Amino acid sequence: MHNTEADGNEYFVCDFCRRCWAEDRQMVEGHRGALICSPCLTVAYTELVHLHMGEERKGTLCTMCLEHRDQAQWESPSYPAAHACVRCVRQAAGVLSKDPESGWKRPEAAAGIVPSEVEKVEEEDVDEEHV
Ligand SMILES: [Zn+2]
Ligand SMILES: [Zn+2]
Repeated sequence: MHNTEADGNEYFVCDFCRRCWAEDRQMVEGHRGALICSPCLTVAYTELVHLHMGEERKGTLCTMCLEHRDQAQWESPSYPAAHACVRCVRQAAGVLSKDPESGWKRPEAAAGIVPSEVEKVEEEDVDEEHV
C-alpha cells in the first residue's frame, strides 16, 4: 500500500508487515498499489513453495492480485487480512530475483523437499491466460 501522507521511502508500505521501503526491504507491487517486501516474500515463498503450506486458505482474496484464487495462499502473521496466492508470490519472486539491485534470491528448498503440486497448479494457470 502507499502512505499518501508520507514521502520518499515512507510512501511505500508493505501490505503484509506495514513496514516501509528500505535498502534491505525492497518492494514488489501487485495490483492497485499492493506491495510485498522482500523479507515477507522470503517467508511467503518458503512456506508456499517449499513447505506447501496455505492450502487451507484456498479461495480467499489475494491482496496482491485481488482475486479469489483456488490455490494455496500465504497469510501475513502480523496482519491476517493480508494474503498472497502462490502465483503472486512466484511472480514477485521472479521480479525481485531479476532485479540486480535488490540482492534478493529465492529461498533454497530444505534438503529432502521435492517439488509438489504447486508447480502443476501454476502451469495450468499460465496456460489459461494465453488462451
Ligand atoms: Zn513486509
Ligand atoms: Zn494473487
